[in-house]
Amino acid sequence: MAHAHDEHEHDHEHEHEHEHDDSGADREREFVRRQALAQIRQYPDVALRMRAREVAEFDEFLVQLVERMANLMHDAQGVGLAATQIGVLQRVFVFAPDDEPMRAVVNPRLTLDESEKAVDEEGCLSLREVRVPVERATKVVIEGKDPNGDDVRYELEGLAARVVQHETDHLDGVLTIDRTDPESRKQALGALRPRPTLV
Ligand SMILES: [Zn+2]
Repeated sequence: MAHAHDEHEHDHEHEHEHEHDDSGADREREFVRRQALAQIRQYPDVALRMRAREVAEFDEFLVQLVERMANLMHDAQGVGLAATQIGVLQRVFVFAPDDEPMRAVVNPRLTLDESEKAVDEEGCLSLREVRVPVERATKVVIEGKDPNGDDVRYELEGLAARVVQHETDHLDGVLTIDRTDPESRKQALGALRPRPTLV
């Protein structure tokens, strides 16, 4: 999942950009972000619509996969990334909302507290600049394994709860555009339509 405020911050930075500002660090960060995004499957890649399989082997491949996903999420300035987004159909995702340490969940089982829901805009590292309102439970429990095969159980709320619902959806081939209202979906599909390259 892409950070909800990235685009606004970028717009803001841009507004106040001056020719002589030392923006080398910003440019480097943007270059790293674009390189990471180039390694993340983009809509309408078919992998994004596939259901990932349960992880059966907790081996070195899995540990390295999680490490690679954590690096990509960080470089792409996202708050969550699912394995399907890099074309690996295994039930594993990483998340790190609000500068919290990165956590990985393998074979996640999500329990929603249905008593309270909230609508907020969600971006996605696989949906370019598209950001749509999505209703989610505000409190969840997520259980599963860590990459070493040990049990994990997290009680989450707010952004963290939203992110793990978003990432669990990815493992079932579900995207934000499937969960938003019809008007937002229509606008999003328009923005995602392939555009000819103008030279
Ligand atoms: Zn996403």
